[in-house]
Amino acid sequence: MGWWDHVLLAPKDPITSVTEAFLSDQSPFKLNLGVGAYRDDKGKPVILECVRRAAEKISCCEILESTKATTKSKFVQDCVKLAYGNHSNVVGEGRFAGVPALSGTGACRLFAEFQKRFYPDSQMFLPMPTWSNHHDIWRDSQVCTRTYRYYDPNSKGLQFQALMNDIKNAPGRSFFLLHPCAHNPTGVDPNYEQWKEISHIFKIKNHFPFFDMAYQGIASGDLERDATAIRIFLEDGHLLGCAQSFSKSMGLYGHRVGCVSIVSRDEKQATAIKSQLQQIVRAMYSSSPVHGPLLVSTILNDADLKALWEEEVKFMVDRLIRMRITLRRTLEELNSSASWEHITKQVGMFYFSGLSPEEVHQLQRDFHIYMTIDGRIRVRRNGCKIGSLREYLPHLVSK
Ligand code: PLP
Repeated sequence: MGWWDHVLLAPKDPITSVTEAFLSDQSPFKLNLGVGAYRDDKGKPVILECVRRAAEKISCCEILESTKATTKSKFVQDCVKLAYGNHSNVVGEGRFAGVPALSGTGACRLFAEFQKRFYPDSQMFLPMPTWSNHHDIWRDSQVCTRTYRYYDPNSKGLQFQALMNDIKNAPGRSFFLLHPCAHNPTGVDPNYEQWKEISHIFKIKNHFPFFDMAYQGIASGDLERDATAIRIFLEDGHLLGCAQSFSKSMGLYGHRVGCVSIVSRDEKQATAIKSQLQQIVRAMYSSSPVHGPLLVSTILNDADLKALWEEEVKFMVDRLIRMRITLRRTLEELNSSASWEHITKQVGMFYFSGLSPEEVHQLQRDFHIYMTIDGRIRVRRNGCKIGSLREYLPHLVSK
C-alpha cells in the first residue's frame, strides 16, 4: 500500500457543499440561499463604513508590530466589555480569561480543547438542532456530544418545557452550549423570563454554560439587548464561557476575528486559565492575526465609530426584518390556509422554513434554488426569484 492510499474522500460539509453545488449549476436563474453571510441587494458582500474608516486609522507599522501582548489583551478586554457589559463586575475585578481566536469557529474550538484538557470525561450538550459545525468541533476535540430539545417543528417555536426537562435531567455539572441570540439555524430564542428560568435551573444543577455568540446585534439590532441572556447569567453569579465572532456583526468574515473568554472565580484563577488557553494556541498556530482585532478595537474605542457601527448593525437588521415581512406577505397572498407568522417571529439572518429534505432537493433540481438540507434559508432580497418561489409554493402551501 502506498502512502495515503487509505485516505478516502471526506463526507461533504452540509453548509459549504451547498455553495459547491450552486457554483456547478449552469442555470442563469440559480439562487443561493445557503450561505450564512449578509449580502446587499445585488447579492454582494457588504463592507461596513465603520470598518473602512477604522482601516484608514490603522497604520502599517501597527499591523506589523502588533504581535504585542498589549494589543491582544486590549482586544480581549474590548470583547468582554461588549459581551458582559461595560460596567460588569467581571470586567472591573479582572475575573475573566480570554484570548483572541480565529473567529467564532476558532473560539468554539479553543474552548472544546480546553474542556477536553481539564474535564476529559465531560460531554457537551448541544441544542437540537444547532449549527452543524458544533458537532464537528466537539467531535474533533474528542469531547462526546449529546443533544437537548430546543425547537418544536410543529409550533415552529421553542419547546421550552422539553428544554427545561432536558436541562433538569442531565447529570449535574454538565457542559451546555447555548446560543444567546439569533439561534442558528432556527431563529428562535428564549424570551427574558425563559432565560431567567434557564439560568435558575443551571444554578440548581451546577451546569456550566458556554455561550456561542456569533450574532450579537443581529437579532434585535441592539448590541446590548442581544447580550441579555449572558447578562442574566452573570447577574445570577454563574461562571461561564463565551465565544464571540465579528464575522456577521462587522462583516469581517474573511478576517476571522473572534474571542474566547471564560469568567472565573477570581483574578488568580483567571491568570491560570489564560495561561492554559495561550498554551493551546501556541501549539496550534502560535498566535492569531492582528489586523482584524485592531479594526475591532479601533471601532469599539472611538465613540463616533462605535455609534456608526451601532447604526449600521441596526440598518442591517431592519432590512432583514423588512425582507421577512415581504416574504410572509408574498406567501400569504397565495391564499393558503397555512400560517406564515413564524417567518416574522424568527430573528436573525435565517428563515427556518420547515421544508423537508425532499422539498429542498426538488427546489434545487427544478428551480435552481439552493439552501441547506434542513430547509434553512438565508433571508435575502431578490424580487424576480420570489417569482419562481411563487410558482413552487402553491404546491407546498396546499399540502
Ligand atoms: N457559531 C454559530 C452559531 C454560527 O452560526 C457561526 C457561523 O455561521 C459560527 C459560530 C462561526 O462563525 P465564524 O467562524 O465565521 O465567526
